Amino acid sequence: MFNKVLIANRGEIAVRIAATLQEMGIIAVGVHSDPDRRAVHFRAMDEAYSLPGNTSAETYLRGDKIIDLARSHGVDAIHPGYGFLSENEDFAQACQDAGITFIGPSPRVIRDMGDKIIAKETFAKAGVPVVPGWAGSTDIGIAALKQEASKIGYPVLIKAAAGGGGKGMRIVNAEGELAAALEAAQREAGSAFGDSRVFMEKYITRPRHVEIQIFGDAHGNAVHLFERECSIQRRHQKIIEESPSPALSPELRQKMGSAAVMAAKAIGYTNAGTVEFILDPNGSFYFLEVNTRLQVEHPVTEMVTHRDLVRAQLAVAAGQKLPFTQEELRQDGHAIECRIYAEDPGRGFLPSIGTLARYVEPRGPGIRIDSGVRQGSEVTVYYDPMLAKLVCWARTRDEAIEKTLWALDRYAIMGVTTNTGFLRDVIDHAEFRRGNLHTHFLGEHSIGGNGSAQPPEAAVIAAALHVRQVGGGRQSARAADIASSTDPWETAGAWRGV
Ligand code: ADP
Ligand code: ADP
Ligand code: MG
Repeated sequence: MFNKVLIANRGEIAVRIAATLQEMGIIAVGVHSDPDRRAVHFRAMDEAYSLPGNTSAETYLRGDKIIDLARSHGVDAIHPGYGFLSENEDFAQACQDAGITFIGPSPRVIRDMGDKIIAKETFAKAGVPVVPGWAGSTDIGIAALKQEASKIGYPVLIKAAAGGGGKGMRIVNAEGELAAALEAAQREAGSAFGDSRVFMEKYITRPRHVEIQIFGDAHGNAVHLFERECSIQRRHQKIIEESPSPALSPELRQKMGSAAVMAAKAIGYTNAGTVEFILDPNGSFYFLEVNTRLQVEHPVTEMVTHRDLVRAQLAVAAGQKLPFTQEELRQDGHAIECRIYAEDPGRGFLPSIGTLARYVEPRGPGIRIDSGVRQGSEVTVYYDPMLAKLVCWARTRDEAIEKTLWALDRYAIMGVTTNTGFLRDVIDHAEFRRGNLHTHFLGEHSIGGNGSAQPPEAAVIAAALHVRQVGGGRQSARAADIASSTDPWETAGAWRGV
């Protein structure tokens, strides 16, 4: 096993990875930008080194600097987390060239799966159903493209070959919109990914997003760890995830799991990955893409399988066999994850920056919080405004819903506006409780407009005056209550000056 592992990431995922490393007796090495000098992730490490600068491009995306640090401090392996360099084949290759293990799949697999056109082709060849579409060059001209689109049938979706994070997608409802949508998608893809290639596929209406966690080792073994339902999305980005999916029968679960494993074996997949599918209302599923990394929502899988996915990643990266066989894996109970963001649902989900004047996490049986902040943390403009992930496990879905609502009510965050009220509105919705989910859920049920947000000023004043808020709803009254009590997280702790 490795002696020293560098985590090339920040925030909650860096903290979460460090926990497993330390549990295993491995030295956790961190990196931090200037704004993250006092960040929780920096304090969670055994050793931490500075990446001077503010933006991601100057810091967490500087693979060259990170590899230099790893080399000069005797690091054996690098864990990239998610985002940043996690799906960058050049970085994975550079690690390998420097004699450092990259904790993830091979550079070849990252490259191939990073291109959605190649990934679709590969999966289709392996016998996995893919969304019907067209992936030829757009150079054929608009007239020919229109012909291809009408063969697919409207609505069609234009997607970026190098896409990620929901960017570079355009829905086209009719032929007249095609030219403008094509240009817009190409422009957005070019600026977001430095690659303007796009393709077209059938736009499935009211689908679910159901993905399968896969895992492979270097000995030819590949398994799946069941599904995650991620249909609650805003602008094609996941907000709430759960496992099991309320939509899967044991037969469908088996079919989707086998399809994902078959594909993993076909490409010689090693380490953790996610095969994303879209599930239409008739129960037909289609391959979307593979994410060649640990997923944001991996904790729901950990909660229902009782397995530590980071521990398994380390084992596989160190050349060991997978620590579980397919037969050993079971789904037990139900887990729901909410992404807690510093953003304002009442103002178009604008990121909300500032200092966390109060920050108190709920505690209770079956509640797991992966967070990258503490009271006093600064939320800056430089990085993703996700503060934490609230993950609740219970025996049944109904109980997991009750627990999530309970926990959201007791999550006190002051100083920035958060989406906790909005999350509450979604989870408490009758159709959510019934499990009637699809990717247009928020729009269709008009959740997320004005009224879901808790204005930060009001909350802070309420906390300061030690009064219960009147008319602020159950959530804010509880949160204000908790915020006004003594904070258990208020510990000094020495800053490490590495
Ligand atoms: P998931 O949420 O399913 O893990 P996402 O596609 O939403 O996957 O991406 C996870 C994180 O990685 C997000 O913070 C997202 O902004 C970031 N990300 C995704 N794709 C890219 C990319 N191509 N370049 C930089 N960051 C990305
Ligand atoms: P990204 O790399 O940005 O995550 P995906 O291909 O995974 O891109 O798609 C992101 C989301 O967009 C999906 O979860 C789904 O909600 C929606 N989507 C993607 N393709 C389709 C499609 N063909 N039909 C309907 N919705 C789609
Ligand atoms: Mg995706």
